[in-house]
Amino acid sequence: MSSEHFSDLFSAFARDGSVTRADLLRLFDDSGILEDDPRAKRLLSAINRSSDTISREEFLALMENSPTLFESVLDGSLVIPQFRQFCDGIAKIFDNVSETRHGTLPTYIPQLERVDPDKFAVSVCTIDGQRFSLGDSDDYFCVQSCSKPMTYCIALEEVGEATLHQYVGREPSGKTFNELTLNSWGLPHNPMINAGAIMSGALIKRKSPSDRFDFVMEKWKEAAGGAKIGFNNAVYLSERQTADRNFALGYFMREKKAFPAETELLDVLEFYFQCCSIDTTTKAMATVAATLANGGTNPLTGVQVFRPDHVKHCLSLMLSCGMYDFSGEFAFSVGIPAKSGVSGAILLVVPNVCGVAVWSPRLDELGNSVRGVEFSKRLVNKFKFHTFDSMLGLRDGRIDPRRNMYESRLSGAYAFCWAAAQGDVSEMRRLVARGVSPSVADYDGRTALHLAASEEQLEALRYLLQLGVDVNPVDRWKNTPLDEAVRANHSSVVSILKEYGAKTEQECAASEVREAPGEIR
Ligand code: GLN
Repeated sequence: MSSEHFSDLFSAFARDGSVTRADLLRLFDDSGILEDDPRAKRLLSAINRSSDTISREEFLALMENSPTLFESVLDGSLVIPQFRQFCDGIAKIFDNVSETRHGTLPTYIPQLERVDPDKFAVSVCTIDGQRFSLGDSDDYFCVQSCSKPMTYCIALEEVGEATLHQYVGREPSGKTFNELTLNSWGLPHNPMINAGAIMSGALIKRKSPSDRFDFVMEKWKEAAGGAKIGFNNAVYLSERQTADRNFALGYFMREKKAFPAETELLDVLEFYFQCCSIDTTTKAMATVAATLANGGTNPLTGVQVFRPDHVKHCLSLMLSCGMYDFSGEFAFSVGIPAKSGVSGAILLVVPNVCGVAVWSPRLDELGNSVRGVEFSKRLVNKFKFHTFDSMLGLRDGRIDPRRNMYESRLSGAYAFCWAAAQGDVSEMRRLVARGVSPSVADYDGRTALHLAASEEQLEALRYLLQLGVDVNPVDRWKNTPLDEAVRANHSSVVSILKEYGAKTEQECAASEVREAPGEIR
C-alpha cells in the first residue's frame, strides 16, 4: 500500500487538517475490533496514547503499527461493514429469545444438571475478527458434543479423508446421538454422533494418552486464538461414571472389528470423555467457529489450524448431521452448519462470514438447547445467512450484512450520493477512503453536494465542502447546489454554501459572460 494512499485515507477523515483521537477510537469500537485483538493491541494503545487531535504525520506513523487492519477499519471493508447495526439486530433477537424458559436440563450426567438453567450467552466473531458478546459470555460451560467437529478436523489432519472414512461413515443416522447402532458395514454413521467421535479419537495417535490430550488442547487453543480453553474435571468424572452407553458403543464397535489395529479401547473412551469435558466460554467458542468459517485460519492470529478442504468436509457433516435427530429440519429451515452439545451449547458457522456460539442449558426432547435453536431460527429470519439464501432475490425484507465484494466504481459513486442524501457521513468517509471521488455525479449530473443541499444534510454538506469539492457543479437542469437550497428555503444550507463562495446558476452564467470577452481578446 502506498503512503500516498494512506495520506488520502487521512484526508477522508480529517476535519480542519487533523483527525481526532476520539473519532479514531469510535471507528475501532464501531467496527468490533477489540483491545485484546493481537493484531490491534499495539495500534490501539498507540492511538490511546496520542494527543486529542492527530496530524497527518502522526496519523501515518500510527498506521505503521497495523496498516491492513487500520485501513479496513477506516474504509469499512471488514466483512460486516455496519457492525454496530448488525450487533443491534443480534441484541434484539437475544432479548426476545431470553424470555423463553421451556426445556429441561439433562439428567444423565449429574454435573450438567447442576448448572443454572437461566444462563444465556451469545458471542459472534467474524472472519475479519470483529467480535461481539451478550449475556453470560464469560461463564464457562463444558463443550460436550461441540467437541466433535474439532476432534474430526484433528483426525483429518492426522490421517486424511480417505483413511478416516474407512472407519466412519458420513450419512446422518436418523437416530439420537448415543443410539446403540452402526451402519450396514458395522461402522459409526458419521463423526458428529458419539460412536463416530469415539472413532475419530481412535485415529489421533500420540506416544501416550496425556500427549494426545495435550495435543488436542493445543489445537483448541489455536482455534480460539489464545482465548480461555480449560478442562472441567468434575464433569469428566461424572461423565465417566455414567458412561454405560458410550462403553456399550465402544464394545459394540470392537465386536464388529471397526477400530484400527492396536486401538486401546479404554484409552480411546477416556479420551472421548475428556474431549466432552473441555471447558470454555461463548467468547472463545465463537472464535473457534470463526476459524472454521474462515477455512481453518484463525482470524485473530492468522494461524492456520486446519486445512481448508478438511474444514469443508467438517462443515458438510455439520450441516447434515450436527443437530442430532433434528439435523434435517435444521438444515432445511436454518441452513447453517451447526453442532449442538448437551450442555446447551450450539456452535454455528456461517461460511466466509462469521462464527456464532450460543449457550443456554435448557434442552428440548432431542437434546438441543431450546433458546439456541430459537436464536438460530430468528437469526436467519433477520439475516440472509441460510446457505442457500443466494438463490433468492434481493427484496425479501431480510438483511445481508456482509460487504458487497462486487461493488463497482459506479455503485460506489451511487452509494456516495445516496449516503449524502441520507446524511450518513460515516458511510461517506468510508467510501472516500475506499477511493470513491467526492465530486462524482450521477447520470443527471447531480453530485453529492446537490443532494446534501436539497435534503438539508448539514453535516454531509460541511464534510463535502471541507474535502474541497467544486462548490458550483451544474446538473442537467442547470441547477447548482445553491439553487436547490434557495428553492427549498433551506436557509442554513444557503449560508454555509455562501461561506464557501457558492453561486446560483444565473450568477455563474453572468460571471462567465463578464469573463468571456477577456478570453476572446
Ligand atoms: N458427553 C455426552 C455423551 O457422550 C456428549 C453428548 C452430547 O453432547 N450430545 O453422551
